Amino acid sequence: MESLKIAFIGLGVMGGGMAANLARKGFALTVFSRTPAKAAPVIALGATLAGSAAAAAREADVVFLCLPATEDVAAVLFGDGGIAAVMAPGSVVVDTSTIDPVATREFAARLSAGGIAMLDCPVSGGQKGAADGTLSCMVGGPADVLERVRPCLDAIATTVVHIGDAGAGQVAKACNQVCVAANMLGAAEAVALALRMGVDPKRVREALLGGAARSTVLERHTLRLIERDFTPGFRARLMEKDLRIAVEAMTRTGVYAPVSAGIHQLLNALLQTGRADADWGAVGALIQELSGVVERAVAPP
Ligand code: NAD
Repeated sequence: MESLKIAFIGLGVMGGGMAANLARKGFALTVFSRTPAKAAPVIALGATLAGSAAAAAREADVVFLCLPATEDVAAVLFGDGGIAAVMAPGSVVVDTSTIDPVATREFAARLSAGGIAMLDCPVSGGQKGAADGTLSCMVGGPADVLERVRPCLDAIATTVVHIGDAGAGQVAKACNQVCVAANMLGAAEAVALALRMGVDPKRVREALLGGAARSTVLERHTLRLIERDFTPGFRARLMEKDLRIAVEAMTRTGVYAPVSAGIHQLLNALLQTGRADADWGAVGALIQELSGVVERAVAPP
């Protein structure tokens, strides 16, 4: 039995898998979910359900957050019934959400004033990585705090890299999303070209997987695109948020980024055509629509 007491807030696609792995490793775990049904699988593994985020966080040594966006993290930390007001000095917030790096620095400074440490710890590896405990964690914040919570991160991840000070993990995650999205757009254009030329994209993918184009995007996302499976996975609205964070940071710092800006525009178009809650791989369907390969690949919900 591990000795750290953990709270977990946000049991969605990613948080559900991470919390389950913490419970399996024997941590004393209290969870809060606005939708109690989402907590059922971790309760079955021995976790306790709290009635509010603050009730979950009050006794915890480490509070994990896995929430959609910057404003959700701000609300849970500092809003009405926020956890910062009840967490003990010496305790730690581990934020696995993907949010704005500048806001992250502000949150860490505000918590630190109350004696609470914060690590930004965005993850990569998707729903499967969360369920299997094989995520990659990009950590920002004090190195000694990372060492204190490392046993928890080892329960959810196979790669844990200390990137730097507060916010550095979120910068790494923005870099990750730019690389993954650019890869996806290339694959989506390749699938459209194969279809346009009357060539089977499955055969093309099979050949590409054996060469220099091999990637996780080609293995997982491209197959789903070819099979027109757009169940999330990773919602388009979340990928739009991630590219917006990256493009804003690039704009602020003067980085020339036509690829990221172009992809962000396409993700915007995906949201505006009723596909915010489809998997973000539907951006490949949009490319096909714009190329006249198909009329409309995903119906609005
Ligand atoms: P999700 O929408 O499935 O889950 C988010 C959960 O947070 C939901 O259950 C929601 O009810 C809960 N929530 C929101 N506001 C809350 C509040 N105020 N109090 C309590 N709970 C609240 O999203 P997800 O796919 O699990 O993504 C979560 C985060 O992880 C996002 O920042 C996302 O960008 C990031 N991420 C997602 C993936 C993926 O493949 N899905 C991969 C890596 C990172």
